Amino acid sequence: MNGPDKDGIMSPSRTGREIYELIQELYPICRSITGNGFRQSMEILQRHLPLAIQEVPSGTKVFDWTVPKEWNIRDAYVKNAEGQRLIDFRKSNLHVVGHSVPIRQTMSLEELRPHLFTLPQHADWIPYKTSYYEENGDLDSGSLTYGELYLPGNEQEEILISCHACHPSLCNDNLSGVGIATMLAKQISLTAHRYSYRFLFIPGTIGAITWLARNEDKIPNIRHGLVLAGLGDSSKITYKRSRLGDADIDRAASHVLQNSGLAHQIVDFDPYGYDERQYCSPGFNLAMGCLSRAPSGTYPEYHTSADDLDFIKPDRLGESLCIVSEALHLLESNRTYMNMNPKCEPQLGKRGLYSSIGEAERALLWVLNLSDGSHDLLDIAEKAGMRFTSVQEAAARLVHSQLLRPLDIP
Ligand code: ZN
Repeated sequence: MNGPDKDGIMSPSRTGREIYELIQELYPICRSITGNGFRQSMEILQRHLPLAIQEVPSGTKVFDWTVPKEWNIRDAYVKNAEGQRLIDFRKSNLHVVGHSVPIRQTMSLEELRPHLFTLPQHADWIPYKTSYYEENGDLDSGSLTYGELYLPGNEQEEILISCHACHPSLCNDNLSGVGIATMLAKQISLTAHRYSYRFLFIPGTIGAITWLARNEDKIPNIRHGLVLAGLGDSSKITYKRSRLGDADIDRAASHVLQNSGLAHQIVDFDPYGYDERQYCSPGFNLAMGCLSRAPSGTYPEYHTSADDLDFIKPDRLGESLCIVSEALHLLESNRTYMNMNPKCEPQLGKRGLYSSIGEAERALLWVLNLSDGSHDLLDIAEKAGMRFTSVQEAAARLVHSQLLRPLDIP
């Protein structure tokens, strides 16, 4: 929202540290797409947010999918003949294939080998592997859990913020999005806002599919949205456009990044990645982009034990949150106005508006000229090559002088 203020409430380094501390607390928990690890994580988030917890029974049909059985783990290990735990779940929850069925068996190394996964280039890293939708007959029926927070605004139209929270001890992929969404929800709940906001903390893929299947009536209200993931590493920021390509969220995120002074890239929609795959499927085609730093699957630490607490940085988390906040703030303030004196330029001097100089004066002229009902403030900023905030300030001054009125407010 406001720019980086060294010691203020919006200070990126201070909020970054708060996000990091939350991630530290969530990191050891063994999460999966279902089960107690996910619930325990939601309980931690409930200390920060009045999150509603939803439970959807195993076996529920959700579009082409079925909510899987519940996976809970107490312990797992591979012992050698001397009884030493060579592979130990207690040392890292990534040592077990997520959602795998229980087994107790003595076997030779040759028999065990097909069940072992390694990273030849990084022998000391543990790969993150799952078997969610394979035969899981030995698992128990239960439910799929997700957290949802709805913050009503002045309007019914919503901004949807979604993050996946189903990975075990992985920091960037998963926990960075969870931490940033939590802090963002906290900030929004403390300020007046025009849009209503909905935050989803869901298991990846099946959670988004389940939410969409259960909430089709809410879809028409979703005006903008963002998927947040992979926001704590030190790569440049990546904004992936919605499938629509030029939705307001795409324009807002691009404008903020281009004026941020930060290294970034803006890429087109691609049906590979996080839950934008579901939100932007053709039957929904929501105006939802995805904000990350290094895109999913493109860095060596991705889905390995090296995506740990050292891989993410508080400053990068704070910086990422600032970008999200600024893009949302822009959407909150973006309106279309009508020039009330459209025949020739109004006389600015007699209204005390001509004393302004440079960019501020040019902004007044741009806003007056393009406020014909078909250009919003972001459009004007883009056409004028100015910062949104300059154009927004000019509009406020013109409204004050009764030369402008908002089109969508009677
Ligand atoms: Zn992942």
